[in-house]
Amino acid sequence: MIIQKLFPLFDRAHGSNVAGKASPAHIVPAKFNDDDQLVFREFEFSEDMIDRIEQKWTAMGYESERTIPDNCPLEPGLLIRQQRINAFKPKGQIITLSIHSNAITMGDKWQNTATGFAYFTAKGITNSDKMNTRLYKFSEQYFPEIYHYKSNSPEYPGKEANFTVLTAKGNAILLEIGFQDNRKDVAMLLDPKFREKYSTMIVEWLVAENRLLIQVQNSQNSAK
Ligand SMILES: [Zn+2]
Repeated sequence: MIIQKLFPLFDRAHGSNVAGKASPAHIVPAKFNDDDQLVFREFEFSEDMIDRIEQKWTAMGYESERTIPDNCPLEPGLLIRQQRINAFKPKGQIITLSIHSNAITMGDKWQNTATGFAYFTAKGITNSDKMNTRLYKFSEQYFPEIYHYKSNSPEYPGKEANFTVLTAKGNAILLEIGFQDNRKDVAMLLDPKFREKYSTMIVEWLVAENRLLIQVQNSQNSAK
């Protein structure tokens, strides 16, 4: 029987009603008419990644929830997202995972200076930073060829920013997976093989986090 102490809450990025948040090949197709194979929308990527992660997670018998119902394309607004996180009452700890792709331009041109992954928690040292440190380890093991953006802290390599969804209750990490204005990154993000490998990495990390919570609770019980 499966023991579940960690409950993921998957937070899809943006929505079809949010401007930008796509590759230049989607935003200005006339300018990049040779790039049909690089048409990428962040919310579609995020939805598909959540589908893949959730499918693997629930197949093992674990439960999870979403801040935005499956296949609803619209952005509900950041406060609604925050309210939905705060209303989630699982029998254990929450980890909100907000799945995004990064950009350093407005998405109207390609750039090749920024590439790679960055994982954010809210400012200040919390349990989320410890979880994020372990996520970096998994991510770097799975994707040693990908650049990982880090803070200056050797103990907590994760980046920090007070994005609204990171300030709700429970643990939370916002993942910026690749740059949607970088051709090389977009080609990778669109590759189903990459999506499978990345979602497998996330599920293995979640399983390890759940196991760690059970161990901590068992050692607390035996110390009583
Ligand atoms: Zn985003």
